[in-house]
Amino acid sequence: ERGRLARLKNTPAVTLDGQRIDLLANIEEPGDTAAALAVGAVGVGLFRSEFLFMGRQGKLPGEDEQYAAYRAAVEGMHGLPVTIRTVDVGADKPLDESRHDAAHLNPALGQRAIRWCLAEPAMFLAQLRAILRAAAHGKVQILIPMLAHASEIRQTLELIDKAREQLDQRGQAYGPVKLGAMIEVPAAALSLRLFLRYFDYLSIGTNDLTQYTLAIDRADESVANLYDQLHPAVLRLVADTIAEGARLGKPVAVCGEMAGDPDMTRLLLGLGLRSFSMHPSQILQVKQEVLRADVSKLTDWAQAVLESDEPAALLEG
Ligand code: PEP
Ligand code: MG
Repeated sequence: ERGRLARLKNTPAVTLDGQRIDLLANIEEPGDTAAALAVGAVGVGLFRSEFLFMGRQGKLPGEDEQYAAYRAAVEGMHGLPVTIRTVDVGADKPLDESRHDAAHLNPALGQRAIRWCLAEPAMFLAQLRAILRAAAHGKVQILIPMLAHASEIRQTLELIDKAREQLDQRGQAYGPVKLGAMIEVPAAALSLRLFLRYFDYLSIGTNDLTQYTLAIDRADESVANLYDQLHPAVLRLVADTIAEGARLGKPVAVCGEMAGDPDMTRLLLGLGLRSFSMHPSQILQVKQEVLRADVSKLTDWAQAVLESDEPAALLEG
């Protein structure tokens, strides 16, 4: 089975009815690009930049250190696109164990991801400059996590403009970037018009979208049985995001665990998804599902799954 899957590495991910599907890699550090290329990923759909920031006793990576890391990832992909997500610390990803403090009783609802970045603009500007500079070396997309409010979007865009101005003032080279938002807070999935007005593309974070839609802590074993990506409410938000992106002609990806689950591939294809980003170890299995799928025959079934009170039953059938 392993050997047979390995032979799919260079096979284009195209469905039986000729739909080309992008299978991208989620990475945590620049060195992971080798694993991404080894399974034929057509790019990096999620570089979790927070891994550069974590476990450093509060001594954060500076602009040049980050630039070197992002540039290494970009060069490691040899011209394929790299989506760099701005730092998403907090909640299950504390900067340091010591900061995992009890003062924040509900860290998943607290100052994480873009909320922290906007509270620490000097830190955020340094990251944005590092990413923009790395974009001079290849195709780079910026991805912003945990957005929910128009004011957050506005502030984020202003800071990106400011980072460019700072680089201009220094006379430092930088490249063009596409700008994307993660859809991982239910409020975002219910405000798609706003997000599609400001961003070039969307990427659905099904891990957090499930957590926040169902009010289930994704890290709490005692409620893990209720953490259900197939809950009709979660599927509805995922489906609406894919459909609204298609309607307005903007790309939508899924970069949460759902994208790497081969049992979900047919459903996501049927809902119209054409871009999946996952751990490199899952790419070949998902590609096998893509190669066996006829999207034209999955659309009606996917709508039936969406309308069902218990989608899991239909998925097994
Ligand atoms: C997600 O929430 O689905 C996601 C991809 O981001 P992370 O798992 O890093 O929070
Ligand atoms: Mg997330």
